Amino acid sequence: MTRQVLNLFDSNFQHTILSCLSSSTSSLSQARQAHACFLKTGLSNETHVTTKMLSLYANHRRFADAEIVLDSVPEPDVFSFSTLIYAYAKLSQFSNALRLFSRMMSRGLMPDSHVLPSAVKACTGLSALKVGQQVHGIASVCGFCSDSFVQSSLVHMYIKCNHFMDAHKMLDEMPEPNVVSWSALIAGYARQGCVSETKEAFSEMRNLGVEPNLVSWNGIIAGFNQTGHYLEAVNIFRQMHLQCFKADGTTISSVLPAVGNTEDFELGIQIHAYVIKVGVDSDKCVVTALIDLYGKCACTSEMLQVFNEMDESDIGACNALVAGLSRNGLADEALMVFRQFKDQGMDLNVVSWTSVIACCSQNSKDMEALDLFREMQIAGVKPNFVTIPCLLPACGNIAALMHGKAAHGFSLRIGMSNDVYVGSALIDMYAKCGRILTSRLYFDGMPIRNLACWNAIMGGYAMHGKAKEAMEIFHLMQRSGQKPDSISLTCVLSACSQSGLTEEGQYYFKSMSREYGVEARVEHYACMVTLLGRAGKLEEAYSMIQQMPLEPDACVWGSLLSSCKVHNNLSLGKVAAKELFVLEPGNPGNYIILSNIYASNGKWNEVDKVRYRMKNMGLRKNPGCSWIEVKNKVHMLLAGDKSHPQMSEIIKKLNQLSMEMKKSGYVPITDFVLQDVEEHDKEEILCGHSEKLAVVFGILNTSPGSPLQVIKNLRICGDCHAVIKFISSFEGREIFVRDTNRFHHFKDGMCSCGDYW
Ligand code: ZN
Ligand code: ZN
Repeated sequence: MTRQVLNLFDSNFQHTILSCLSSSTSSLSQARQAHACFLKTGLSNETHVTTKMLSLYANHRRFADAEIVLDSVPEPDVFSFSTLIYAYAKLSQFSNALRLFSRMMSRGLMPDSHVLPSAVKACTGLSALKVGQQVHGIASVCGFCSDSFVQSSLVHMYIKCNHFMDAHKMLDEMPEPNVVSWSALIAGYARQGCVSETKEAFSEMRNLGVEPNLVSWNGIIAGFNQTGHYLEAVNIFRQMHLQCFKADGTTISSVLPAVGNTEDFELGIQIHAYVIKVGVDSDKCVVTALIDLYGKCACTSEMLQVFNEMDESDIGACNALVAGLSRNGLADEALMVFRQFKDQGMDLNVVSWTSVIACCSQNSKDMEALDLFREMQIAGVKPNFVTIPCLLPACGNIAALMHGKAAHGFSLRIGMSNDVYVGSALIDMYAKCGRILTSRLYFDGMPIRNLACWNAIMGGYAMHGKAKEAMEIFHLMQRSGQKPDSISLTCVLSACSQSGLTEEGQYYFKSMSREYGVEARVEHYACMVTLLGRAGKLEEAYSMIQQMPLEPDACVWGSLLSSCKVHNNLSLGKVAAKELFVLEPGNPGNYIILSNIYASNGKWNEVDKVRYRMKNMGLRKNPGCSWIEVKNKVHMLLAGDKSHPQMSEIIKKLNQLSMEMKKSGYVPITDFVLQDVEEHDKEEILCGHSEKLAVVFGILNTSPGSPLQVIKNLRICGDCHAVIKFISSFEGREIFVRDTNRFHHFKDGMCSCGDYW
């Protein structure tokens, strides 16, 4: 009797709960209640009930509960497994999907055409080619290989795993080819930059009677653009247009970067008009791409117009604007709009901060770059692997070693110190901060190196005048299988020219095309002119310039002019200066060097003429400027700057040092002063050179014996060189001075350049 009642109750209950479970809006608590009853009444054997329970739990993402249900079923069937595997795959829980799939297989259950696509999808998500191939094998054995869902899922799996041949083969075998699978294959080829394969697959698809859709076109354009096949991307866009396919926002935002990179301004304008015509001009991605395009085509006013016409500002567009201004050398404007965005409370992200930091460090605003980095951290935005390599050049430029070290520490903490971009930037930074040994240690410890890393260490050695080491690295690089490029050879040649290794330099120059497949560029000729010029072979240098197959640029002539200054060659100096006045009419440096050559020859009339011409053109001598980092802060010292708070103290110390120098027999070298003035005044002007001021500032503000590093924005003069040599021994300090040309490492009264610079 009791038992009968219970059964009656059970069947009622089952009915109620089933109707409850069948509703897609069933709540989780209803499912739980039902679950508890099933466990009590042992109804878990009822497949249709368990399947519903499973899918309900899966819908509510209660996978743990779902698995309990599955475990409680004594004999689960494929359908029960399939429900849960499908749900896992749908929610991108691919490992769990595969775990259940293998559990199902180990129970001897053969998969059906429903569960196979889910399993393949999981393999695709994990890019697990091996497992995917196994599933493919199982599908063949079970006879589901001609099922269209199984087929297209396998095609996508092979594409995701970059096994295009297999994907292509499967597509060829499909009785009913579909546009989705073909488009995926074509986009896959395009993403790999396989231009001809992409085009072939595209025409094959059409030959099979499958018409491309917007996704097919967009996939090709985006893929070609991402892999740097800009012209191809633009051509596909043109074809698409000719065949009357209407582009959407995705098409436009994929093709515009390609147009920008080919600097096809005309086409850019046409597309802009088209954008307005088809009405995608409010699409944020399109607007961002337009700003980027005009920035790349150097059309800043058009860029600003697009930005100003935006309905509401969007962070992507703001970032594109900052990058566009920076690209066109408008660093002040870029910084200004960035500040405006910040003040307006824009949600600035890591891209925004990184691009403004990059803008500063690329435009000689190194101090600003360091300040912005600090501000970024205060704002709670975490730097990424792009930010650090953008910041490090700024640290190197002004020898902000402490800041550079902090950035290095940061990259270690976030685990990206092995990144090759961070690595090459670190090598460069340490070298520029005078720590070439640290650069080398870091370089030696790198697990992977790319060309930029090799070039960075060679460039470091060149800057430090260590030609032997630079050549060693050059050979090591080739033994490692890394081919040198044009920059590598510039590093080697410049190292040779810094150290006066004329023969070695000539050897590398002559063999660069034959042995390394690198054609000589203007910068290589400039190195050679320096090399010959420094060695006093000025006529040889001049005839090399005359025989150059390329048009000599300002670097080449500038290098000859500097050598003429060193060797006091007036006739060639005049030739070089004449060329430079045409190439760089606004550069005061050339006038100054020429007038210095005249001054050294006592031709004061000519000195006056050059100075008059300079003045007439409104050119002023580039103010000498040096930087020194003291106690985590970078200080800038200007030549003759009376406003510096410690200036009187610095001058007092400098006078005291020059007394000591005179006692030891030193006579100031006054050739380096442009003006034709009294000897005494000349000395006073020499006192004001910024590198000397920076060194003395460092001595006054750091503990005795600690090393100093100074950066100078011009070439160090002979007098400062002599004075700093003296200071290094008198004060017992190691002093690193980097000028525009190279490094000088002063120690015990000597300099690493051997007075050759
Ligand atoms: Zn000086
Ligand atoms: Zn030196």
